[in-house]
Amino acid sequence: MPRGSKELLGRLCNVDGPSGFEDSVRSLMRELMEGYVDELEMDKLGTLVGIKRGKNDQPRVMLAAHMDEIGFMVRYITKEGFLRFTPLGGWMDQLILGQRVIIKTRRGDVLGVIGCKPPHIIPSEERKKLVERKEMFIDVGVKSEEEVANLGIRIGDPIVPYGPFEEIAGGKAYMGKGFDDRVGCALMVKILEEIGDDHPNTIYATATVQEEVGLRGAQTSAHLVKPDVAIALEVAIAGDIPGVNPEEAQAKLGEGPVICLFDVSLIPNLRLRDLFMDTAKELGMKYQVEIMEGGATDAGRIHLYAEGVPSIVIGVATRHIHSPIGILSAEDFENTKNLLIAVLKKLDSQTAASLHPS
Ligand SMILES: [Zn+2]
Repeated sequence: MPRGSKELLGRLCNVDGPSGFEDSVRSLMRELMEGYVDELEMDKLGTLVGIKRGKNDQPRVMLAAHMDEIGFMVRYITKEGFLRFTPLGGWMDQLILGQRVIIKTRRGDVLGVIGCKPPHIIPSEERKKLVERKEMFIDVGVKSEEEVANLGIRIGDPIVPYGPFEEIAGGKAYMGKGFDDRVGCALMVKILEEIGDDHPNTIYATATVQEEVGLRGAQTSAHLVKPDVAIALEVAIAGDIPGVNPEEAQAKLGEGPVICLFDVSLIPNLRLRDLFMDTAKELGMKYQVEIMEGGATDAGRIHLYAEGVPSIVIGVATRHIHSPIGILSAEDFENTKNLLIAVLKKLDSQTAASLHPS
């Protein structure tokens, strides 16, 4: 039975899977896609592909959402029982200080906090300086290396932010960790649940691994899917926060799906871009655009597969991307899903062939 978007997004965000450690996300995605796809396949790095046949085998439409979230890895354990850590994906150091984190050990979860010297013992001039990650440590409340080992913590264990999913703003918005890119995973599952059999193509719902460390799962899974068209489902940068100018980031919460026009890895297929814009207009739906001068997505790798694949990135505007906790609009999630379903219903062989440059 189809689930509500809130429940689905909540379940997906509350499982932990930093890059290279996507197992529990993959198990959940397998469970969520089963029953809505004809087949499930996996590549050798762990990217999961749910194949849903519509009226035709062609075109092969690849939806890509990455399962991994940004996190850390235990790098070193001090004699006094503190953990030094390495980032998995792109973090800004000042966003992590004071945050609670979960260390995923073979014996279960261990809660810790990212700390540094308290302000009282730092000279006042130095207090203004940013604390760098290398000076920070994770405190799990013990006093020795042995006690750390007794908790089951080993060097190489993954670490994620602690941030249970919540509905906020009277139901208008959601707050949680890992929106990048469990939002894409949730969109993909909702599409499979709601699209029915009336789509003139075959959908390859691809839940990729290791996007945040270099689009690695996208590269390998494209060989499995052999896509004719690709759509990456992502978060987009919401610029409606203090200090951000619309010239830097123009998307806002509640203003509709975001069509990405540029990132450092992809210039989208222009006809596919127009198909999304025209379809939004037909649906009477607002949409937004994004030009992202930093950052890349799975589509950046997929569109270079074989002789090239017409590709695009569609996102949900999200505040505080690549920080421990994000915020997004419930309405944007629904509209983005509806726009994607409408475009997927149009993507027949003729439309797919018309995307190629003439
Ligand atoms: Zn992402």
